[in-house]
Amino acid sequence: GSTIGILGGGQLGRMIASAAADLGYRTHVLAPDRESVAAQTASSLTRADYHNKVVLADFAAQCDVVTYEFENISVTPVEWLAERVPVYPSPRSLAVAQDRVREKQFVEQVGGRPARWQAVGSREELDAAIATIGCPAVLKTTRFGYDGKGQTRLMSPADADAAWEAIGGPAILEAFVAFTHEFSIVLVRGRDGTITSYPPPWNEHRDGILHRSTLPAPAEIAAQWTEAAALTGRIADALDHVGVLTCEYFASAEGPVFNEMAPRVHNSGHWTIEGAATSQFANHVRAICGLPLGDTALVAAGAEMENLIGADWERWPDYVAARDTYLHLYGKRETRDGRKMGHVTRLTR
Ligand code: ATP
Ligand code: MG
Ligand code: MG
Repeated sequence: GSTIGILGGGQLGRMIASAAADLGYRTHVLAPDRESVAAQTASSLTRADYHNKVVLADFAAQCDVVTYEFENISVTPVEWLAERVPVYPSPRSLAVAQDRVREKQFVEQVGGRPARWQAVGSREELDAAIATIGCPAVLKTTRFGYDGKGQTRLMSPADADAAWEAIGGPAILEAFVAFTHEFSIVLVRGRDGTITSYPPPWNEHRDGILHRSTLPAPAEIAAQWTEAAALTGRIADALDHVGVLTCEYFASAEGPVFNEMAPRVHNSGHWTIEGAATSQFANHVRAICGLPLGDTALVAAGAEMENLIGADWERWPDYVAARDTYLHLYGKRETRDGRKMGHVTRLTR
């Protein structure tokens, strides 16, 4: 049996490890701390020091292929690993996806349309960007944002001081998109370049965090599915991406507006565990191991995934008792406000 190395120890790594085990693979997690919830499912764990070459060399020696479950890891150690063991997706996918400037430039190069944006490196540049982009707008850190952290909204130019105070640079200013719905394309690309993608969920956010993903998506999204899936495919091809790639979109009157990409399995794809013929996690493992990709079709009339954030998980007795309802708790020891503790998927038969 082969061993899959996973960089990162969160719930995404945990669900990749679980899917890998079903396919007969061992998994080895390299994670920052012993609290790694992925280690509960993986075969083994190394406590990560991503910049310690002894640790990295030992990890590389134990793995036949390496993947990552979060994008906020520095590219340098991943490039170092890639010289010793196949890393999928490649460090280039990571480098582009973790930097909002590179990401948006890349998407524009392959014909995609993000919201109007401008890079902001100083307080003066913020004024210049507001003059070009207008308000309302969103100021986002270039790197390391997630779950709506690292971004703030400007309703008028008078908010510039407070926004700069909150974010600082380097950042980008982005026009606020008047969308009807948000959705995502969860795509998987094999080592041989074969592409398949899932039907798009309608994603609803609360306080910048994904709250619910619903399938099938409403008509406004269905009308923009083909164009968004084609763009996501062009991005994956141009990156020579192997594994799952997720792009978030705003459905607007002018068509799909690209929001951001994640070079990995995605929260808006959790419904695929019970709701699709092959889960995003199984398909990610298939892709990075060079196996044929599995069927992505929705296997029920409908599926709805809801995140259990903070104390929401305390309702677990209701979820385990309900029919066609699938509870996933991530095994995190400490409940914190805004922390993803689990999710629940309901299927409509
Ligand atoms: P994630 O956890 O998905 O990586 P993130 O912190 O990278 O989140 P974004 O996806 O950029 O953040 O933004 C979070 C949410 O904020 C979006 O899903 C959307 O609801 C809202 N949002 C972000 N940018 C814009 C925009 N330009 N116009 C309108 N809404 C926006
Ligand atoms: Mg993001
Ligand atoms: Mg997002």
